[in-house]
Amino acid sequence: MVTEDLQRMVIAIDGTAGSGKSSTSRGVATRLGLRYLDSGAMYRAMTWQMLLDGVDVDDSEAVAARAETVRLESGTDPRDPSIRLSAADVSEQIRFAETTKAVSAVSAVPRVRQLLVDQQRAIIGIGGIVIEGRDIGTVVAPDAELKIYLVADPSARAARRSAELSDGQRQDVSTVQTDLISRDTHDSSRATSPLRAADDAVVIDSTDLALDAVITTIVGLVKDRLDE
Ligand code: C5P
Repeated sequence: MVTEDLQRMVIAIDGTAGSGKSSTSRGVATRLGLRYLDSGAMYRAMTWQMLLDGVDVDDSEAVAARAETVRLESGTDPRDPSIRLSAADVSEQIRFAETTKAVSAVSAVPRVRQLLVDQQRAIIGIGGIVIEGRDIGTVVAPDAELKIYLVADPSARAARRSAELSDGQRQDVSTVQTDLISRDTHDSSRATSPLRAADDAVVIDSTDLALDAVITTIVGLVKDRLDE
């Protein structure tokens, strides 16, 4: 019974850039044997397509028009998440600094959000998934059984993000911090689905917590929900 309930559960993990959402979400999904979806990777892949095609990301009509025919595929294995654009693996390209710089403009376009939210809901299906993003608890899966909102101090977030970047993409911590804050401001102030905690989200501050401790806390909350 518990296993069946778990296989239908939706766990939404939202939060600011660099708050540890990806590592946490993958860790929770792996420990519980659930699928995992990185919705940010979908917005990043959409953005990479715009850059490839030379679409001006500040021209929302042009972005919306191009978005209609973009073919994205998201793998949901937490041990090996993948993202494909017209069948090509773009997991490296979506982390390029130019993609990161342009992603907030693309993700603010309502038609882009509508297309990707539809895809995210189709992937969620009957559940059994941990999904991370900015608007999962508020818009994509408002009925999720467990909603987490992860926060951390900007300096801790910048240090983590900087360490995650591969050698070719390495930037100094202060540049990363400026970029994170500017993305948060942009994501929180956009008209459509701004970044915010759902009213029923559990807020976890990961500044002084090790990754494993955050994962264990969330797994504990999942077990509590299953017992309720
Ligand atoms: O999570 P990540 O930092 O990779 O997300 C990249 C960008 O994608 C965010 O800054 C935000 O603009 C957008 N995003 C979003 N809604 C989501 C996930 C990401 O708007 N659910």
